[in-house]
Amino acid sequence: MFDATSAVPPAVPPAAPAGLSRYGWTAELDRLFAPLAEAGLTPGRLARVDRGRADVLVADPETSGVRTIRADTRPIAGAETVENPCTGDWVALDLAAQPLPAVGALLPRTTAIVRKSAGKASEGQVLAANVDTVLIAVSLAVDPDLGRVERFVALAWESGAQPLVALTKADLAPDAEFIREDVERAAPGVTVLVVSAGTGAGLDELRAALGTTTTALIGQSGAGKSTLTNALTGAEVMTVQRTRDADQKGRHTTTTRELFALPGGGVLIDTPGLRGVGLYGGEGLAHAFAEIEELGERCRFQDCSHTTEPGCAVRAALADGTLPQRRMESYLKLQRENAWIASRTDARLAAQRARLWKLRSKGSRDRVRP
Ligand code: GDP
Ligand code: ZN
Repeated sequence: MFDATSAVPPAVPPAAPAGLSRYGWTAELDRLFAPLAEAGLTPGRLARVDRGRADVLVADPETSGVRTIRADTRPIAGAETVENPCTGDWVALDLAAQPLPAVGALLPRTTAIVRKSAGKASEGQVLAANVDTVLIAVSLAVDPDLGRVERFVALAWESGAQPLVALTKADLAPDAEFIREDVERAAPGVTVLVVSAGTGAGLDELRAALGTTTTALIGQSGAGKSTLTNALTGAEVMTVQRTRDADQKGRHTTTTRELFALPGGGVLIDTPGLRGVGLYGGEGLAHAFAEIEELGERCRFQDCSHTTEPGCAVRAALADGTLPQRRMESYLKLQRENAWIASRTDARLAAQRARLWKLRSKGSRDRVRP
């Protein structure tokens, strides 16, 4: 707060630019950014990133809105390395950099949505940053794949954000309420809403649930994400193509921007089709299957594998039906996947350590040589 007793006003103009407050700028960011503003850098939020370039939203004092600046994300001389900048990141821009403005620093992330990369290295790929809510779109036009919902929910918990499920295309499903109950059981502690972008049903409730936070929209291709983005932003920001008759899968092309201000005050991040989600870490899994973890604590043996041990609370719950078999299988499957990802990561780290060790020992040999 500005101290009225001191005669001198702060030397640095307030970093909180009116335009950016519509895009999630907070008082905490103001505080974090102060030294960067003093260094002549400009705050901005990444609206899209591709190989070495980013579209950055910065405050436009003339319109009190924002304008988009194309910037270089490669680290500038003397600055800290910018690691994996992604949509949703808050950055410090050097507008004077040549030939392009450059991202000079990344502000600390509050949350990050990470998925295992499709490539051979199982390093996490950051899909979106500083997300408060992960909105999982699930189509009611096809039988919902509860295993997939569980994956998305675990991924959401893993990110540090709050998951929220929207069952879309309610106008196509007369039994939406029953499906909602099934999905709720697969996602304990998560709000599940039924919506239709077509009729507008449930959209007000969804808007209220999103509030003024930053939301990232994920879900299978064809789940209705583009249509929902258009409905929530109140603009044709995404192009939706007609459903191909047989498989109910829509095709769309995205605009370049992946981050939008919502009329109600929130921010929506719509990243291109997130398919085949992998988990990374493990906290998310424990959270998504909290009831199984709780049962596990009641097993006689602390390291119970829930297969043959006596006094197993998990097997007891499976036997009396309180724990559905499907849910247990989903849990074991995701756990195996996680273990596999972890072993890949360990192998990669071990290889890196070996390389480093070789370099070091080569270095010391070089030194002892005359
Ligand atoms: P995305 O791939 O997740 O972005 O899905 P799209 O938004 O492209 O939607 C896929 C298809 O579902 C398109 O043909 C949409 O017109 C259709 N669709 C989306 N929302 C609704 C809805 O609420 N009701 C109906 N009947 N169809 C919808
Ligand atoms: Zn057990």
